[in-house]
Amino acid sequence: MPETIYDCLIIGAGPAGLGAGLYASRGNLKTLILEKGIVGGQLQVTAEIENYPGMDHMTGPQISDAMEAQTKRFGCDIVTNAAVDKVDLEAQPKVITTKEGNVYKAKTVIISSGSEHRKLGVPGEEELSGKGVSYCAVCDGAFFKNRKLAVIGGGSSAVEEGSFLTKYASSVTLIHRRDELRAERILQNRFLNNQKTDVIWDTVVEKINGDMLGVTSLSLKNSKTGETSDFPCEGVFIYVGLDPNTQYLEGKLKIDGAGKVITNERMETNIPGVFAAGDIRNTPLKQAVTAASDGSLAATIAIGYVESLEPVLEAH
Ligand code: NAP
Repeated sequence: MPETIYDCLIIGAGPAGLGAGLYASRGNLKTLILEKGIVGGQLQVTAEIENYPGMDHMTGPQISDAMEAQTKRFGCDIVTNAAVDKVDLEAQPKVITTKEGNVYKAKTVIISSGSEHRKLGVPGEEELSGKGVSYCAVCDGAFFKNRKLAVIGGGSSAVEEGSFLTKYASSVTLIHRRDELRAERILQNRFLNNQKTDVIWDTVVEKINGDMLGVTSLSLKNSKTGETSDFPCEGVFIYVGLDPNTQYLEGKLKIDGAGKVITNERMETNIPGVFAAGDIRNTPLKQAVTAASDGSLAATIAIGYVESLEPVLEAH
């Protein structure tokens, strides 16, 4: 059987990858998306998306399902449980190898492997993960009916998911290392005006304590006074930022000091035929809508790139 060479191979099936997949396959490119986990990326762990135009009152998973169905309708293939391990981006065709040992070839590559939740890095976090320590309110919130919860972080994820958790919890206490939140103002106000919430300012978590049954308390330290205290709770949700999934790209293309792939406004990286889209990129706004937009632009430029290659390939 002749070897398949895809026109466009997309790494990651979050909103950036699905947006790219829709535009590339609708633009007649033979397109494959490789996804290491499940389709949807950060959408799968987001309770409600209220700033994706036209998609009101929808959960992250609902939007993800709609995007996946629409992308597949135009013939895009999606392979899940395919973790990319090695890339040869300078070659033509480009070669992508997964941890499972599968090798894929493509004329263009769109990197949209997104980011994953940063760990707090304190004792007890790893041991109690899944036993009261969580990074996903939409996945685990319902296990905490009438429980006292803590949320760590001061960004939009912490306050948005903290507000969601009030549906279940008896109380939700946000613990933030500074005296000011960086979350979007509308999300801050919603959280702060909820009767079930409060905030412990200027405080870091030093340890997560627990037993066989799960989390029992947090050891806290005030970052201004140095005073230590114990905060009893039955669950802790950690939202201290996202780290880009670029491990497999080290030394392969230009990445900035924060580990983000550097692109121009056409989503082109420093390697011809290789594009990046969404959270993996050095972008000033990380939203589902901007990720999908990045993906659609990357695919559109990729279509032009494939067309420009055709006379060369035919000559061989
Ligand atoms: P983020 O904006 O990077 O915020 C991370 C928060 O965690 C910050 O408040 C930071 O404190 C704190 N933090 C970091 N390391 C810490 C540590 N070791 N110990 C304690 N606290 C620590 O991350 P995010 O909230 O996950 O959001 C990621 C991106 O997605 C952002 O661009 C955000 O705007 C976007 N987002 C948007 C929406 C929305 O539009 N609805 C929802 C969610 C996320 P400092 O403030 O002191 O640095």
